[in-house]
Amino acid sequence: MGSIADSMPEFGYPALQGYVNRRIAFNKAAASARDRGIPCSQAPPVFPMNSHSSSRYVINNFIRTDGMELQVLAYDTRHRYQHASAFDPVMRIEKVLPDHATIMRIFNDQTPKCIGWDPGELVSAALCMIHHADNWDRQPEAQDPPLSNLLIRRSALYSPTKSARADRERLKNRSPAVQAKEAITGDLWVQEQDSTAATLRLPSISDMESALPSKEQYTVDEFEQALLVRLSMEPLLREVYSTSRFQKDRWAEKRAKRAELHMAVDAILRMCGPEPCSIAVGNGTFRTGFNLASKHECFKTHFAKKARALGHVVVLVDEFLTSTMCPSCAAHDVRSRVAKPTQRSCVCVECGRWINRDSVGAQNIALIAERWMTDQTRPLPLERPAQPSQL
Ligand SMILES: [Zn+2]
Repeated sequence: MGSIADSMPEFGYPALQGYVNRRIAFNKAAASARDRGIPCSQAPPVFPMNSHSSSRYVINNFIRTDGMELQVLAYDTRHRYQHASAFDPVMRIEKVLPDHATIMRIFNDQTPKCIGWDPGELVSAALCMIHHADNWDRQPEAQDPPLSNLLIRRSALYSPTKSARADRERLKNRSPAVQAKEAITGDLWVQEQDSTAATLRLPSISDMESALPSKEQYTVDEFEQALLVRLSMEPLLREVYSTSRFQKDRWAEKRAKRAELHMAVDAILRMCGPEPCSIAVGNGTFRTGFNLASKHECFKTHFAKKARALGHVVVLVDEFLTSTMCPSCAAHDVRSRVAKPTQRSCVCVECGRWINRDSVGAQNIALIAERWMTDQTRPLPLERPAQPSQL
């Protein structure tokens, strides 16, 4: 009959400790064998893995500490491993659609509709689609063609986070009351209770959190003091945060965030229509490497994935001057800056057209994409000045 220890899968700290001991013994044996010039008789120890268990986390042999607590790090086995090639970044239009033949091949000999997308500070996505008449002969039209604009405000994408945060703040500011000698557990802060017989009022979670010492201490005494305060309060705080109420809220917040993102993406896809479009995104200041934590990037990446699955082509365009030039004039290759007399709208000094400030960039980006599709050039007013040649 085997002992319980034999049938237990090996994981956790004891397994790691055992592995470290075996590894040290092996290293010693290997070193002494090397010194004596004979082959080592031992095999290196096997790293403990609970691969036969169905548990979600597998320890990964690393320990992290901030001076206060130790964390044993683990792999999340349910997190799918993505190969680097699975990440398909959005590329410049000049790379994706280098010439007329490629454009015709990708869009089945049709001139696609072009949509411009300008990411901004207040507006996560300002989109613009220019509707030319059906028999558009690719010549600039005398009058401005009709436009479709779609603005997705940044606050819309953040609203689930904000409302969840407000709810959490409300809970954290509650100070529950207890009767004398009643046990103090984390549930007190999340449950509604009747406080008629209560005699003692407890501090709220916010109060306790603000009383926690900072993690920077300069003397040993300070460190000891901080550690004592932490040890006295942290178990209770942990208990509060691991109550089912807080965990459920976190889960609900995650779902709401995802739903909001899907709604925004679906709105853009509805605007695109069923036919494959070319969707040009300005290469704004938000393109900071692969910073996927940024909401802009997350939104764009998520959108690109879904749009590509429907046959749309998502590309980047250089957004140089797109927010300062009048799109109506740029369409006729007339250089004209827009004046910005009010906060949210601006007016062209040349043609006198009023335009929403957030849509200027999107319309210019749509224009750039359209011009590229037509003859692989860029509207003159939006052209980057030629670099001085290096001699
Ligand atoms: Zn103008």
